[in-house]
Amino acid sequence: MEKTELIGLNRKELEKFAVRAGLEPFRGRQIFRWIYQEGIETFDSMTDISKNIRSGLAENASIRGLKLIQRLESIDGTSKFLFGLYDGYYVESVLIPEKQRLTLCVSSQAGCAMACKFCATGRLGFKRNLDTGEIVDQFLKARKYAGRDITNIVFMGMGEPTLNLKNVLKACEIISDDFGPSLSKKRITVSTVGVIHALKKFVSSAGKLGLAISLHSADEEIRKKIIPSAEKNTIPEIMAEAKRYTELSGRRVSFEYLMLGGVTDSIADAKKLIKAIHGIPCKINLIIYNPVDGLPFDKPREDDVLKFRDYLYPRTYAVTIRESRGLDIMGACGQLAGLTPD
Ligand code: SF4
Repeated sequence: MEKTELIGLNRKELEKFAVRAGLEPFRGRQIFRWIYQEGIETFDSMTDISKNIRSGLAENASIRGLKLIQRLESIDGTSKFLFGLYDGYYVESVLIPEKQRLTLCVSSQAGCAMACKFCATGRLGFKRNLDTGEIVDQFLKARKYAGRDITNIVFMGMGEPTLNLKNVLKACEIISDDFGPSLSKKRITVSTVGVIHALKKFVSSAGKLGLAISLHSADEEIRKKIIPSAEKNTIPEIMAEAKRYTELSGRRVSFEYLMLGGVTDSIADAKKLIKAIHGIPCKINLIIYNPVDGLPFDKPREDDVLKFRDYLYPRTYAVTIRESRGLDIMGACGQLAGLTPD
């Protein structure tokens, strides 16, 4: 009989699993705590569970998780993890230390169907959705490696998370559970390129989760050229959902704006951006494009980035320029390609 994989089960499901195994429901909560709070990987380490019960568990269940294939360290302290999935695909996660924060950028899909023109993942095409356990285990493995708590999670790795919403939301529920890692939902951000039907579902169920929208251009025609899915998902529709998110969550939305040299970085572009976000409580993150071999885009000039920022602020809300991290290990935004080691 196939063993039940426990990573990815939430607290209720582990209680039911315990009952099915002839145990009290509280055993399920114990297992939940061992796996998600303590990060243990074998039943033998569950020291408050008797040896008999542990060997019964080992016969019927597994704590399999992802296979760590490779870890690369950047000179700036960023680490990139390459994980192997059971069916031969690969995904990457990036761990970014900054002062008090330790942020993990997780993947939600192997590959991505969105095919954004500036993104290395987009070139891979879509392979499949990650299951809940494959998302949560990126967190468990990275935390184990870091040896300290991860303070923030961003779904900005490989994939479009709103197209794998059920598994993404369940992973967030496990990671924020008080019996587990208890990371506040306010510290978890889901980033989307804006697929309206999926964004609507996310906004309706997000609660306190953060929302970042990869806008990248407020000019419909330019946006369509760099984000093919923008053909079907217009800027006004995206803005309506952004507004609804701020009303339901009471939080600001983040707009990610990719500065592509000569494409999205002019003052005319800044004016369009100000108009598009008018009336929506938000933060704007300007991301300086990281060159990817074979892609036809240039890094913006530093001077143009500063002029763009200074035009936006104080005409609009808070604006930050996102520092690129892990460039030397291809771990920066848009650079994740699930490359297998040589
Ligand atoms: S930028 Fe995001 S949504 Fe676009 S192809 Fe890359 S991973 Fe997919």
